[in-house]
Amino acid sequence: MLETEMPVKIEDFLKQAFEQNYEELRLDSGHTIAPDVKQTALQHILLYWRKLRAIAENVTDTEVRLSLPGQETPKGRDFTIEGVVDILRENDRTIMYDIKTHDADYVRANIESYEAQLNVYAHIWHELRQQPLDRTAVIATDFPEEVRLALSNESEEMLAYALKNWEPVVEIGFDPHRVDDTIRSFGAVVDCIEDGKFAPPSLTRLQESMPGKLHVRFGTHVCRNCDARYSCMPYREYSQSTRRLADRSEMHYFTDAMNDVDQEAWRTGNLDAALEADDLRSDFSTR
Ligand code: SF4
Repeated sequence: MLETEMPVKIEDFLKQAFEQNYEELRLDSGHTIAPDVKQTALQHILLYWRKLRAIAENVTDTEVRLSLPGQETPKGRDFTIEGVVDILRENDRTIMYDIKTHDADYVRANIESYEAQLNVYAHIWHELRQQPLDRTAVIATDFPEEVRLALSNESEEMLAYALKNWEPVVEIGFDPHRVDDTIRSFGAVVDCIEDGKFAPPSLTRLQESMPGKLHVRFGTHVCRNCDARYSCMPYREYSQSTRRLADRSEMHYFTDAMNDVDQEAWRTGNLDAALEADDLRSDFSTR
């Protein structure tokens, strides 16, 4: 991890708090994550601090839980909408931030879905709780390719330049007229979940480019991070249709998510974290 320009005391505190949280979650859940994923999560936090220090230092209400109970799905089921946001109050202005681990280009290319969700939170905060609100924005913590490249090259110069160009805050407009539609569409999703409708998208969808990422397909960007991919038929077809993957051995297909060292660390980490036989079964079961 590169060290310059970051106050060491804060960085040390963030690393310690991260490790402590991770250990608690690991022991509580009986699961661990691959070392590269853990390292990426830590980088998100450290770069969030480095890039958005002004916001981080001035947030007045963190992890504000917003709740909208008493909603009804199209099929008549009761449900509650819940969300967590950060609030910054400064100079008579109030800003609501929704932190996402997505990248900013993706958020900008899919602005309607983020608007819809944040508008519901704004509705709860401003109209139901009668709290002041001047602006809403998404903070997209996934850093862009330039930052990733600078980190892998361990180049402070490249990193400073890439961080300067990175715009992780995406302003979102508040349109109260769309709130009812959004709540209705949330209700439709609740019905699908309760009815057990979990059909994956088609192969065509997996082959489409991600909005805001012309050369990155859904099947690569989303599916390769999905735990269900080994039992997902569209992903299997996608992998086989991709020449790069088709050239690999079948075994490589099943191990492409991480290298041997990382896999071993993930396996032993889960063995250490699993307190009960059931925990192990859920991690290693092939059914
Ligand atoms: S691999 Fe996961 S994300 Fe991709 S289509 Fe299948 S279930 Fe959906």
